[in-house]
Amino acid sequence: MKQGIVINEKINRDIEVLVEFIKIYCSGRHGNAEKNRIAARGPVGRCLEAHDLALCRECGRLLLHAVSKRLICPYDPKPSCKKCLTHCYAPGYRDKIREVMRYSGMRLIRKGGLGLIKKYFN
Ligand SMILES: [Zn+2]
Repeated sequence: MKQGIVINEKINRDIEVLVEFIKIYCSGRHGNAEKNRIAARGPVGRCLEAHDLALCRECGRLLLHAVSKRLICPYDPKPSCKKCLTHCYAPGYRDKIREVMRYSGMRLIRKGGLGLIKKYFN
């Protein structure tokens, strides 16, 4: 395990992608749900500070889970989550993030945003 938590450029990039995917999903799927600004303490909060985003409760919790898992990922370089042997997400969240990736991935492909997908999965 790494000592402490270092937020580097790569982590920031991954988090940017996570934020983007969950944002697309939430506005598409939960358009009418009440949205709140997402804030957290500690390193997770610091990562999200730069992003001005509002999500519904469910997606907010998913994002916080995903970001905290990304921060403690012990692999460097991080493998794509699909190929990783450590399934670090809690069971419910794992299915959820897969659904988000599928949904938002399709949307991004249609909009020509392939770069973002490659950024995350390579
Ligand atoms: Zn949502």
